[in-house]
Amino acid sequence: MRLTETFVPTLREAPQDAEIISHKLLLKAGMIRKVASGIYSFLPLGLRSLEKVKKIIRGEMDKTGALEVLFPAILPKEIWEETGRWDIYGNEMFKLKDRKGREFCLGPTHEEAVVDLARGELRSYKELPKTFYQIQTKYRDELRPRFGLMRAREFIMKDAYSFDASMRGLDKSYEKMFNAYKRIFKRCGLTTIPIEADSGAIGGKVSHEFVVISEKAGESEFVYCPKCGYAANIEAAKSAKEKEAEKEEFKPINKVSTPDAKTISEVSELLNIPKEKLVKSLLYKIDGEFVLALVRGDDELNEVKLKNLLNGKFIFPATTEEVRSVIGASVGSVGPVGVKKVKIVADYRIKNMFNFVTGANEDGYHFVNVNLNRDFSVDAFGDIRTVKAGDSCPKCGAKLEVYEGIEVGQTFKLGTKYSEKMNAKFLDKDGKEKYFIMGCYGIGVGRTLAAIIEEHNDNYGIKWPISVAPFEVEVVPLNMSDKTIVDVSEKIYNDLTSSGIEVLIDDRNDVSAGVKFNDADLIGIPVQIIVGRALKKEGKLEIKDRDSGEKVLIEAESTVKYVRGVIEAKYNALDE
Ligand code: ATP
Ligand code: MG
Repeated sequence: MRLTETFVPTLREAPQDAEIISHKLLLKAGMIRKVASGIYSFLPLGLRSLEKVKKIIRGEMDKTGALEVLFPAILPKEIWEETGRWDIYGNEMFKLKDRKGREFCLGPTHEEAVVDLARGELRSYKELPKTFYQIQTKYRDELRPRFGLMRAREFIMKDAYSFDASMRGLDKSYEKMFNAYKRIFKRCGLTTIPIEADSGAIGGKVSHEFVVISEKAGESEFVYCPKCGYAANIEAAKSAKEKEAEKEEFKPINKVSTPDAKTISEVSELLNIPKEKLVKSLLYKIDGEFVLALVRGDDELNEVKLKNLLNGKFIFPATTEEVRSVIGASVGSVGPVGVKKVKIVADYRIKNMFNFVTGANEDGYHFVNVNLNRDFSVDAFGDIRTVKAGDSCPKCGAKLEVYEGIEVGQTFKLGTKYSEKMNAKFLDKDGKEKYFIMGCYGIGVGRTLAAIIEEHNDNYGIKWPISVAPFEVEVVPLNMSDKTIVDVSEKIYNDLTSSGIEVLIDDRNDVSAGVKFNDADLIGIPVQIIVGRALKKEGKLEIKDRDSGEKVLIEAESTVKYVRGVIEAKYNALDE
């Protein structure tokens, strides 16, 4: 492809609203353009890379035996009502009506659509297992679309759905997908970690997120053990249970005045008692019922864990008014002593605390020397705190680390969650009708592309891994008015192209060598062949590796062979 014949509108500066590097570089390199918040167009170079990511995904999906299909983006309300998700999705769902007033949505995901297909078509265990996948556009009216392709409102997803007759079958389907995911991301040049994810209130089910570590663009916090490799989303992460502490003698409970001290830090400072000796009491509303949750003063409560512990669906912190009407005090003075008719749930660590401080349920007062079972009792204990860096690994005891990651994919053992709701059954070997046992598996295609850039860039631009680069080689003739340079460049371009390599030639004759160098580094094609000074001086071309920055001089005649070798080695490195 000739640069003068394609369309690569590079920018010197990225627009103000681009915060993270991938968003900036996609815009600067002329790969995407914004149409509206969270809605983007792909330009020729961006589309080429996007298609390559899709091709890798498609290839690996096909290898697992999954069948490609294509569901519509527009889906009728009725199937979403069967699962209750028409309401659960809330404002994130784009809803619309046709001219007759019938209601539809733009699919944010396709469980309902695929189950609707399966229940009409898959009748017998003999037709199982089956996995369907598609690479298709999804719509989610995200609360905060941001980071370019990372959190868009229209985005391309690969979603797959497996149907099995047994749990063992599901385990196998899941494992196949899990391994395919590992290969997909590896081949895209991405370093992903599969982490254990929260599987919601259904319990007992398995889910993994594939995350790329990224301090700036990561929105998914996770815990990692450098010793044994234990990795889990912060919502699912556990830490080793504390050893039972030695019991302290109970001291008499005492009410103290704590005017103006509302937060844990303020109370700790005022009373000169360490935070570990304070209990944080937080009022929540879970599926409409109030729950008082207790964690140690230096811990953070994890809402997802709390919700899961109680098998809840919806969790909200109580409002200031609710706290006042239920507890009779303001938020900063809440405590478990004397609380009635509200379920009290405490983190396991509270069991190890003696003579601690809590709010007194009276504005401006706290209790000191509170003790469990003497002064109040707890309805349920559980792991409801958020794991912190430095906590002990639940598997091996080593110190845990905490990172921010980009979730590029998620896999999930759904079981019969959707097939039951939609009454989707097959006839099993024993002649009985049973619900399909399902898994679902998603990859954000655009998010993967953005994550690749987050992992592969420098101050000058993108450093595409060969497998997803818009072109494999860029030929850069430095002086278009020099016939030798142009002739040699054209020859190399033609020879490489006819040997099946994807080549871009910067044949612009109205820009300086400096601009060509900058643009080449910005758009980040992995191998640059610079035709210029070295050719005139010694008949050689300069081959630059965009990733390592290494430059070598090669005889003009040997270039094609040399470059083919470089490209092959790059592919091999991603395929190991
Ligand atoms: P997140 O927690 O980041 O919102 P999710 O858990 O809602 O993601 P899934 O429903 O599991 O995501 O979707 C599968 C994949 O689709 C995700 O792993 C991610 O790569 C991608 N994805 C989800 N939402 C978006 C979005 N708004 N923009 C781009 N990609 C997305
Ligand atoms: Mg989401």
